[in-house]
Amino acid sequence: YTQLSDELEETNSGVVALYAELDERGRQLAAANDAKTRFLRSVSHELRAPVNSILGLTSLLAEGALDEDQRIQVGYLDSSARALLGMVNELLDLARAESGRQHVHRVRVDLAALLGDLQGTVRPLLRPGVALHVDVPTGVELHTDPDLLGRVLRNLLTNAVKFTDAGAVDVAVTVPEDGVVVVTVRDTGIGIPAEHLETVFEEFFQVPNRLQPSAKGTGLGLPYARRVAEALGGSLQVASVVGEGSTFTLTLERTTAPALGRVLVVDDD
Ligand code: ADP
Repeated sequence: YTQLSDELEETNSGVVALYAELDERGRQLAAANDAKTRFLRSVSHELRAPVNSILGLTSLLAEGALDEDQRIQVGYLDSSARALLGMVNELLDLARAESGRQHVHRVRVDLAALLGDLQGTVRPLLRPGVALHVDVPTGVELHTDPDLLGRVLRNLLTNAVKFTDAGAVDVAVTVPEDGVVVVTVRDTGIGIPAEHLETVFEEFFQVPNRLQPSAKGTGLGLPYARRVAEALGGSLQVASVVGEGSTFTLTLERTTAPALGRVLVVDDD
C-alpha cells in the first residue's frame, strides 16, 4: 500500500509539474503573439505616413507639364503607391483586430439591405457567365457593427467571385435558432485543398500553385474576416472540395450584448 501511495504521489507531482510547464509555455506564446501584433501595428502605422507623402507628390507631379511618357510613368507610380497604401491599411486593420482594440459600434442592422448594397458593388467583378444570387429573408435584423460586418462579407464575396470561373456565387441567410443568424457564401469555384482549410485563415497565406490570379491579393482578407467575426461575437468557418467549390459560413449572434472581453472601444488611429 505504501509503495502504491508513493507511486501515486510521484505521478501526482509529475502531473503538477507538467501543468506548470504548459502554463508557462502558454504564457510565453501569448507574449510572443502580443509582441507580433504590436510589431505589425507599429510597422503599418509608420509606413502609412511616407506612402501618403508619395501619393501627395505624385498628384503634384501629375499636375505639372508632362510629356506622354512621363504621364504614363507617374500613373504607374501613383497606382503602385495606392496598392501599397491599400496593403498597409489592411495590415493595420488586421493588427487592430488582433490586438483586441477593435472599435465596435453596434446599431440595428437590416441584413437584407446590407447584402443588397454589397451585391451591387461585387456584381461588376463577376466573370462573364457567373451568376450571383442573394437569398435573404426580409426583416432579419442584427444588433451589430454594419461597417465591420460589411467588410467581412465583402471579403468573402470578392474571394468567391475571384476564384470562380463558371457557375454561381450564392449568398444565403438562415436563422437556425433564436438569436443566431447564419450567412453562407457558397461558390462553384476552384475550391481549397483539405490541407489548407485552416491555413487560409493565417496571415499572408495564399494557396500555392494556382492559375488564378491569387498573387494579386495579400492573404490578409480571411485572417481579418475571422478576427472581426469573433469580435462581433460570431465565428467564420469554411468547407470546400477542390474543383467543386467552397462554402464560407459566418455565424452571428443576433443579440444585444457585446461579447465579453473582445470589444474595447478605444482607438486613437
Ligand atoms: P487574398 O484573397 O488576398 O489572397 P485571403 O486571406 O482573402 O487573401 O484568402 C487567402 C487565400 O485563400 C487566397 O489567396 C486563396 O488561395 C484562398 N481562398 C480564399 N477564398 C477562396 C475561395 N472562395 N475559393 C478558393 N480559394 C479561396
